[in-house]
Formats: sequence, C-alpha cells, structure tokens
Amino acid sequence: MSGYRDILLRLRQSFPQPISDRFHDAYFVFSIMRTLDAVDRLKSDAPLLGEPSPLNYDAALKTRVAEDPLPIEDVQRQLVERLEGMPIWGHPLSQINVVATPTIASVIGSLLPAIYNPNLASDETSFGVAQAEAMVTAMTADLIGYDPDQSSGVFTFGGTGALLYGVKLGIEKAFPDAIERGVPPGGVLLASTHSHYAKLNVAGWLGLGEQNVIHIPTHLDNSIDVEQLEAAARRAIESDKRIAAFIACLGTTDAFGLDNLDAIVDLRDRLVQEYELDYRPHVHADAVIGWAWSVFNDYDFEQNELGFRPRTIRALAAAHRVIQHLHRADSVGIDFHKTGFAPYISTLFLVKDQSDMRLLVRGREEMPYLFQSGQRHPAMFTLETSRGGGGVLAALANLRLFGKQGLRALLGHLVEMAEWLREHLEGHSCTTVLNPENVGTVTLFRVYPDGVDTWTIKDRELHDPNAGEEVERHNEFNRQVFQYLHERAMQGKGVHLSKTECYRTGASGVPIVGLKSYILTPFIEQAHTKLLVDTVLEAREAVMRGGAPATT
Ligand SMILES: *Cc1c(COP(=O)(O)O)cnc(C)c1O
Repeated sequence: MSGYRDILLRLRQSFPQPISDRFHDAYFVFSIMRTLDAVDRLKSDAPLLGEPSPLNYDAALKTRVAEDPLPIEDVQRQLVERLEGMPIWGHPLSQINVVATPTIASVIGSLLPAIYNPNLASDETSFGVAQAEAMVTAMTADLIGYDPDQSSGVFTFGGTGALLYGVKLGIEKAFPDAIERGVPPGGVLLASTHSHYAKLNVAGWLGLGEQNVIHIPTHLDNSIDVEQLEAAARRAIESDKRIAAFIACLGTTDAFGLDNLDAIVDLRDRLVQEYELDYRPHVHADAVIGWAWSVFNDYDFEQNELGFRPRTIRALAAAHRVIQHLHRADSVGIDFHKTGFAPYISTLFLVKDQSDMRLLVRGREEMPYLFQSGQRHPAMFTLETSRGGGGVLAALANLRLFGKQGLRALLGHLVEMAEWLREHLEGHSCTTVLNPENVGTVTLFRVYPDGVDTWTIKDRELHDPNAGEEVERHNEFNRQVFQYLHERAMQGKGVHLSKTECYRTGASGVPIVGLKSYILTPFIEQAHTKLLVDTVLEAREAVMRGGAPATT
C-alpha cells in the first residue's frame, strides 16, 4: 500500500506539465507517437482499421472501475483497441457516408484546446479562442454572403443543434416571449420529406410537438415542391396556426437535394404581406452539407481556371445556382465536420441579423458570476453553458489551410470523381443511376439481373402502382449485391459502400432500395471509381449464379 502522496506524484506525470519541462514534453509527444504507431499497425489494404469483430455489449456491461491507476501506456493500448473495425473514412476505397477525414491542421486545432481547455462560455475563460469564434463567424458569414458586421454566430453541438437554434428563434418570433412563458399550441414547422429527421427531434424537444411538422413532398431531384409548400403554408395560416419556421435543406443527407431557398424566402415575404402577419416566419437553411459550395460564389465558371471537366463544371455551377442564395435565409447551419474536413463536433450556427440573438438572452442577473469582466459572453444566449474550443480551432485551421481555392479544388475533385462514377455506371446496361441529375458527390444506383429492360425499369419502379412485386424482387437482388460487395470490401478487394433502404417510395408504395456511393475522400482517383463498377458487375454475376447468401 502506498500513501496518497506516492499516487499523487506518479499521477502528476500523467498531466502535461504546467511549467516548461522539455524532457516531459518529449514523453508527452512520444506517448502520442506511440499511440499513432499502434493505430498504424491496424492498417492493411482494407479500408478499415484492424479486423471487424462483433461488438460485445455483454463484456461492456461487466466493465468496472479498477482499484488502482494504470500507466498511460496501458490506457493507450486499450484506447487503440477501441478503434478496431473503424472504417478509414479517408481511404480511397471508402465511399460510405458523409463522414469526413480530418486534416492534420484541424487535428492540431482540436488538440490544443484538449490540452489547454478553453471554455467558450465567456472570453474570460477562452481568451483568444473566443476571438477565433468571432473570426470563423465573420469568415463564414462573408463566404455565404452575409454581412459580417450585421450577422452573428455561435458554435454548437452539430447540425441538429444549429437547427434547434434556428427553430427556437422562429418560435420566439411567432410566439413572443415563449422563452419565458412557454410555447403555446398552434405552431408548425414546414420542411420537405427528404430533409433531415433532426426536424422531428427539434419539434419534439422545443415543445412544438413532432406532429406539428408538416412534411412537404419533393421533386425527383429531392428538392422541396415549392407549390405544395405554399399550399401547406396557406392552409396553416388560414387555420390560425403560426409558422414557427420554414426549414430549407441545402444538401439533403442521402442525395444532395437542394431546396430552392430563393423561392422559399420570396414565398415567406409574400405571405407576410398578403395575410398582414404580425410576425415574420423564420427561414432556417439547413446547409450543413451544402455550405461549402459557397466557395464557388466568386468562381468564374466560364474561365474555369482550375481546369475541371465540362460535366464537373456543369454540376458545380448547378449547385452554385441554389447555394448562392444562402444569404437570404434568416439563419444557416454549417457543419465543418462534414464538407469542411474537421473532426466532430464542429458546427457553426449563423444568423443574418445579430439582433435576433437577443431573443434568446436570459437576464444578466441570473448568471452574475460569468459576467464580471470581458466582452463576449455567449453563454447569455447559448443553450449550452460550457463549450469547448476544439470545433472552433479546427474550423479556423481548415479555413486557413484551404483558402477558397483549396476548398474549390477538393470539392471539385469529389464532384469530378462522382461524375466519373456516374459515367462508368451509365456505360453498362444492367446498372442505373437513380439520381443522375444530382450535382453533389453522392451517387445512388441500382443493379438488375439479366432479363430486365433497364431502359424502362426505373420509370416503372417509380411510377407504376402495380410494380410492387417487381420492386421487392429487385430490392432483394440489390441487397444481395450489397452484401457481396461488403464482404469483398472487408477483405480489401473492393469499395466500402453503403445502401439506402429507401431512395424514394415508388407509386406501388414499396420503398426502392439503392446502393449508395458517398465520395468524400480526397484520396480517390478515377481508377477507384472504375474498380467500384467492376466489382459491382462481378457481384451481380455472383448473385445471379446464387453465389451470395440471402440477406434475410
Ligand atoms: C448530418 C445532417 C444533420 C445533422 O447534423 P449533425 O451534425 O449530425 O447533428 C442535419 N441536416 C442534414 C441535412 C444533415 O446531413
């Protein structure tokens, strides 16, 4: 048994030293290096770390806190073990979902606050990192076309958090002082069926109620049907409901659908006038994916100095046509951890008019100890109290690292690769691209067995009310192809894809299953897109021969 002082002295070595100590710094850095080295040993040809083994929650339940401390080296080993089976998002054969591989600069941006622990509740506890939050806010505001002098922003807990802030502002506009008195019934949210389900969380948690989310159908390009939105908004107003917010989705998660924000804001303005509303329904742009395309706001597509292919230019310009209107939204959600290549969580909530934030301020007298000095006290209006600095510095790091040109090159390349993939897929009669009009980096496609007329099948599956059985059969075929591809990918012999159980629901009422390639790795080359198509064809053959197991 050792006395407490022995334990204390040993544990002191486990902290970064508060007084300059270069020998100890070497130990600190070496501990990190050894950790990275251990992770490196998990790498192989496959796009994942180590071997995927089934998760053991029974073992997890039996875990307890031990009596004695462990050396860092042992802790480190246990942490590295927890990464086994993780996909390597940046691997050129990874095309799973909208998960980014973080840059070294953004990792450093996350690491520094992890060591020095700024708290963004106030600038008294975060100093220059509070200024960094103001810097990133101004940079991003300018990027999307807000006036940095008029707008304001805070980092928060994800795109869901940003949506929560946006809708909260909308509630305060529709129901003044709801923050004090509570939310009365009668508020509705308007959003497309393809917008993110976070709208339901937000409606539930903010007291609007999930049932009061009105789901508006989308066009085939997954953008909201503005005519139907208008009809629904009018019905709501005429039945004495109040519109807590219009949610415009700029970049839907599964298919990069882009809502016509320009038309939505016009619609809102028209309704305010026509019905002489005593409030202005709030418009929140959920642009957590699409925001990054605003680097093309001042790109000369005609001149195309970066040398993108014509197909790529067309896709980038088409996205730009919608994204350029982001500044018309009252608030915007931005995820640097998606299309900004930062680690989780790095989300900025931006408002066009900084006075909107006042709707959220609680009385200073309720939190006196936070505001003895300093100038910037976001905790007066943020939902969170403590906020870490990792997201802020990671975002700042990447905005500096990339500049506009860097982000253009990255996004342009991803779109270029997605276009190649679509071209390769379209070159075969047994595959169809489900979202050929898509202008982002996600491709949904479907594979068919011999004997299916792929010229007409897509149309039939979508629009024929009697096609249900056929859709089912092809769904099962695609699930088997997916399973085969997945097994190959795990052996390092193919691309790690994902699958959506519902690309859209066809007229038969049966959801259409699609294979999904989400390209977000900067390491991808055209050869990888070709490999994907080759393995898809191989999987198709194998499934037709009955070589793949059933999925049910
Ligand atoms: C990912 C996503 C969200 C949720 O954002 P988180 O950062 O995961 O909380 C909301 N909306 C869209 C369109 C998304 O793609």
